[in-house]
Amino acid sequence: MRPKSRIHTYRPPPALAEPDRSIALLKEALARGNAADATTWFERLNATHWIPRRPDLVPWLSREIGAHATGLLVKAFALSPCHFCRGEWTACPSCEGRGENHEGRTCKTCAGLALGCCAACNGSGLVNYSAVPVGLRGAAWKDRVAHAARIIRGLRPDFGARAKDRVGARLQGAIAARAMLANAVRAASEKAPSFLKARDAIPATTNARVARLTRRLIADADVALRVAVADMGTIEDRAARRGGPGAAAASRRATRLLRLAGRRVFVSPLLFRPALGSI
Ligand SMILES: [Zn+2]
Ligand SMILES: [Zn+2]
Repeated sequence: MRPKSRIHTYRPPPALAEPDRSIALLKEALARGNAADATTWFERLNATHWIPRRPDLVPWLSREIGAHATGLLVKAFALSPCHFCRGEWTACPSCEGRGENHEGRTCKTCAGLALGCCAACNGSGLVNYSAVPVGLRGAAWKDRVAHAARIIRGLRPDFGARAKDRVGARLQGAIAARAMLANAVRAASEKAPSFLKARDAIPATTNARVARLTRRLIADADVALRVAVADMGTIEDRAARRGGPGAAAASRRATRLLRLAGRRVFVSPLLFRPALGSI
């Protein structure tokens, strides 16, 4: 079989020597909006030591490829999907997505939400900070906190649209945003010096500074999560009242979700974020 057509693939001028050729390909991937290609080109250049190991990598890159392209590269790493779950939700492995065990009791792992929490990304759906090249981690950290803020801002309940999938998407968004914030707090904590502080050109991010930046976001994410859980409970309650063969199961789900929405502390591994509670 013939290889796939490469007509549309950019080829830098053959006269271009390395590393200029690969840098041209990196810039071209960024301009095309191809984040996966861009991170691959950067990782190759980095592995070959054509990207200097220096704390002020962001200003250095801005001089080499331009500030706009550098911003796009940081964003490409910041929003790279987790290598393991690829940013997709899976069914909870304990209850196989039923939300309850065989005796009809609420699954302790997922609190009855039926979602599985990826152990690699903590449910954020994004690669962990050690997969982001040193020198870009501080900038990627800021991008992610901003990304979590954007998600949380978009989670306002829409009372006109109470469809189950819309509420489900809101629920998933709130869990992912909390996970991003928890990972950000943990990465910047005193106990994880290698993640952000080591050689990144950002001022040492102390717990107090992170707390100031993220406290409001965390409170908003918690409210969004509780509202989404309660809305899902209301949807299940309506289904239970309509009767029919699934009414008993819907009624159990409604009770479980409404109880969860009012919990002071989330105890399931899917929702409990020690990093968020410690600041
Ligand atoms: Zn993952
Ligand atoms: Zn479960």
